[in-house]
Parts: sequence; C-alpha cells; structure tokens
Amino acid sequence: MAAVAARIIDGKAVALRLRDRIAERVAALPFQPGLRVVRLGDDPASGVYVRNKDRAALAAGFNSATLHLPADTSQAALLDRIAELNADRSVDGILVQLPLPPQIRQEAVVDAVDPAKDVDGFHPLNVGLLATRQPSLVPCTPKGVMHLLREAGVALPGARALVLGRSQIVGRPMLQVLLDADCTVTAAHSRTRNLAAECRRADIVIAAVGRPEMVRGDWIAPGAAVIDVGINRRPDGRLVGDVAFAEAVGHAGAITPVPGGVGPMTIACLLENTLDAALRRRGIQG
Ligand code: NDP
Repeated sequence: MAAVAARIIDGKAVALRLRDRIAERVAALPFQPGLRVVRLGDDPASGVYVRNKDRAALAAGFNSATLHLPADTSQAALLDRIAELNADRSVDGILVQLPLPPQIRQEAVVDAVDPAKDVDGFHPLNVGLLATRQPSLVPCTPKGVMHLLREAGVALPGARALVLGRSQIVGRPMLQVLLDADCTVTAAHSRTRNLAAECRRADIVIAAVGRPEMVRGDWIAPGAAVIDVGINRRPDGRLVGDVAFAEAVGHAGAITPVPGGVGPMTIACLLENTLDAALRRRGIQG
C-alpha cells in the first residue's frame, strides 16, 4: 500500500487564531497588560526574535517595549534594571532574551525576575509549581506544542510520547506537561542508546535537539504525530528543523513544518502568559 502523506500542522494559522482570541480579551479589559523584553547586545538572531515578540504584543493591544542594553552590561547593572521592572506596577511580564553574554550568570538573572511576572516560566518557583502539578506560568514552547497537539486532534491519554532533548527551557517542561496530559513519556538525550528504535515506539515524537534533520523518516512509526521544535540554519541560509521533513511526511500522521510550526506558537504563548500574569496580579479570573 502506498504511504499516505501526513497532515501538515499549520502553526502559523493556529498561532494567529490564538493571538486573535488574546487580542479580543485584551480589548475588553479596562487596562493594558504590560510586557518588557530585555535584550543585551546585538546578536542578529535574538534581534529578529525580539522584534517579532514586540510586534505581536503591540498588535494584540499590549503595552510592550524592549529594553536594549549594551553587550558589556554588568550583571549588577542588569539585576538593577530587573529590580526596577519588578517594582513597576505597569509591567506584568518580563522576558530576558537568552543567551546572555559570558559576564552574566544566567541563573542569577532567572532567579531575579519576580515569579509573578516570569512569563518565560523559568524561575525555580514556577518550575517547582509545574513539577508539583500546580502549573502557574508554563514555559512558552512546551505550552505551544500542547496547543498544536490538541488542535491537530492528537489523542493524548495513554499515548507513548518521546521527547528528544532534556534542556531546562524545552525538553524538561515538555516532559512534565505531556505527563500531566496522561501520556506515557520517554526522555531521550545525547546518551540514549538506539534513538531510532526509541522513536519507532512512539505515538508522539517531540524533537528539541538543535541538530539539523537528525530524525530520519524511517524513525517515525506509521501515523505518529511529529512536532519539530528545532530551528537550525543550513550553510545555504535555509532554516530546517531537527526532523528530515521530506522523509518524515511519508510516515507521520501529522507533522509540523519548520519554519511555520512551533516558532509562531512560542510567541503566541508568550502573549497568553503575559495576559494570564496580568489578570492574576489583579486577582481577576482568566
Ligand atoms: P539545548 O542545546 O539546550 O538542548 C539540546 C538537547 O538535545 C540536550 O538535552 C541534548 O542532550 C540533546 N541532544 C543533543 N544532541 C543529541 C543527539 N545527537 N542525540 C540525542 N539528543 C541530543 O537546546 P534547546 O532545548 O534550547 O533547543 C533545542 C532546539 O529547539 C534548538 O534547535 C533551538 O533553536 C530550538 N528552539 C526552538 C524554539 C521555538 O520557538 N521553536 C524555542 C526554543 C528552542 P544532553 O542533555 O545529553 O546534552
């Protein structure tokens, strides 16, 4: 029997719908939720992300601005700016764009953000709340992946889900939210033996490794859902994911493209977290 091509999950369209719903909710509020993105230095990739976040936030009716600091800003100076944003009542969400220059310890910055304004969900308090099944502000990328799985109609309870990658910002929280959605979860990483065999057992594959097209088509079980978080730039400038899309599309039941899959959802979920933080800080039910 000929293989049937997978359904392409259109992250751009799902994200636009979510952003429209957020904009409607913001328009009905008697105040404007405030978002501040802090960026250090002039890394061009970070510049693109920050501009996209700012644009999306303004379009949804947020009061949004970027604090652009020099690359040689000291850790003490950065922590002072974060303290100011923590104290500013008009600011509901603070996001410090990573990675940070070498003179700054990332943990010190993550710990300094008021957990109630931590729209990235990286503060140890929010990480702990997620781990103890009391999720508050959940990291944007795993949250976006869950939206995509639900929009694509993927059955979650009891499904075997494999997460490739165990980073603090994607892999680990991803494992947690899948577990809380009643999936049977496997964590794979650089020390996992026979990755291909682990993948072939999975009903859902979430790839977050940062290795261009590492996951081959024949690693995907027939009909599995494949969510590709990876964003990798090829020497010719082309963006590709962690999954060999052209191969996997003939095996998967549903698959996200790169670009146009998870990326737009991450930004939409940042807006969702900022709105949630704004409502919670004012004691309003979402
Ligand atoms: P990290 O580099 O922090 O983590 C990568 C993970 O992949 C690690 O756990 C590592 O294992 C694992 N890994 C690396 N090589 C292999 C291998 N050969 N086989 C199996 N596992 C491997 O990356 P991030 O989690 O920050 O990001 C992952 C990807 O997602 C990147 O491409 C990034 O650009 C993208 N990304 C996309 C976002 C979006 O909005 N779409 C948002 C955030 C990230 P180990 O722990 O053993 O070292």
